[in-house]
Amino acid sequence: MLDKVVIANRGEIALRVLRACHTLGIKTVAVHSTADRNLKHVGMADESICIGPPPAAESYLNVPRIIAAAEVTDAQAIHPGYGFLSENADFAERVEKSGFIFIGPTADVIRLMGDKVEAIRAMKAAGVPCVPGSGGPLGDDIAANTKIAREIGYPVIIKAAGGGGGRGMRVVHTEAHLSNAIQMTKSEAKAAFGNGEVYMEKFLENPRHVEIQVLADGQGNAIHLGERDCSMQRRHQKVVEEAPAPGITPEQRAEIGKTCVEACKRIGYRGAGTFEFLYENGRFYFIEMNTRIQVEHPVTELITGVDLVREQLLIAAGEKLTIRQEDIVLDGHAIECRINAEDPDTFMPSPGLVKRFECPGGPGVRVDTHVYDGYRIPPNYDSMIGKLIVHGRDRATAIARMRIALSEMVVEGIKTNVPLQQRIMADGGFQAGGQNIHYLEKRMAEAKEKAIGIG
Ligand code: ADP
Repeated sequence: MLDKVVIANRGEIALRVLRACHTLGIKTVAVHSTADRNLKHVGMADESICIGPPPAAESYLNVPRIIAAAEVTDAQAIHPGYGFLSENADFAERVEKSGFIFIGPTADVIRLMGDKVEAIRAMKAAGVPCVPGSGGPLGDDIAANTKIAREIGYPVIIKAAGGGGGRGMRVVHTEAHLSNAIQMTKSEAKAAFGNGEVYMEKFLENPRHVEIQVLADGQGNAIHLGERDCSMQRRHQKVVEEAPAPGITPEQRAEIGKTCVEACKRIGYRGAGTFEFLYENGRFYFIEMNTRIQVEHPVTELITGVDLVREQLLIAAGEKLTIRQEDIVLDGHAIECRINAEDPDTFMPSPGLVKRFECPGGPGVRVDTHVYDGYRIPPNYDSMIGKLIVHGRDRATAIARMRIALSEMVVEGIKTNVPLQQRIMADGGFQAGGQNIHYLEKRMAEAKEKAIGIG
């Protein structure tokens, strides 16, 4: 087993990783910026090291400092959490070359999945269903690109191979705009990601976002833990997540899950990972793989009973997976609401002093947060301050529990999106389930027009 782990992250996920480590008897090292001395996990860790000033580029993205922290504390492994360096192949490589274990897949696999053109190619070869598309990067030949678009059928979407965070994409509805759109996306991608390569896909008009959670030990064993529906989004950012996805049959789940498991084995995947799909008219279309633990992992934990972070640690320690596919039996329904420090109407970040903080409780209620009474939220980082997750025997029970939990949540001193989450939970369309990725924004726009709030 590992003896000591550096947690190269902050906020709720750092606390989540710390708890998993301590459950396994692993000692922890918190690395933090000067703005984060008062983070909850920093006080709970066995050791803590300040790695730089508030800007992430000088602290949480500061590779030499993070590796030095592992060296001086004699740690064995580094857990990157999500965001920051978690999907940085160069970081994973530096960690391993410095003699530490990177808690995640190998650098080669991260690199493969970080290049979307290569990732799609690898997934197609592994039999994973992908969006009809160019199957490779687009050249400068206008006639050739026009032919590809005609074959796919409009609308199409031009996407950057190195894109991420919902950036570097352009939808094209007619041939007249195609060539210009390709050129513009190329030059933007070059400027934003240092990689001007773009590719083309059919633009799916009303898809849902459904993703498959996997665990693989890198020693030939892999399982899937069912799917999550993350279609409630604003600006490509997930707002509410749930598991299982409404309307997905056990047969569909088994089939797509098996495909993902086979793909993991084929690429030599190690650790926790997520295959993200768009889902439309009963079919799955792969868009990308996240090679890390995700924000929404708790909904899967609640319906499977598997502690995914604990499994990440065991896999990193070189242990074989002990959970078999037949052990994964889905129990009930789980929903997660992301709690953000932001204005619920304008979405402007709302950092500052949390004067009072009270968490909900009761059966099936889990709160993953680093916030406490008197905590000051720094303005330097993401606005997510916690996650409220509920579990119930069915979806209606989970929604009912979430509504009560949201009503019990007290956060004073800053603004949060709790009122928005309450409106979503009260919304008839959400309650019906199975809405597409445009639903939330559409409802918010309608509500703004009527100025009565959604629901
Ligand atoms: P990123 O890595 O930037 O998040 P993704 O490939 O995951 O990029 O796409 C982000 C979002 O863009 C998707 O969740 C979806 O909303 C939209 N999108 C991407 N590809 C398509 C497509 N082919 N059709 C429709 N929407 C798409």
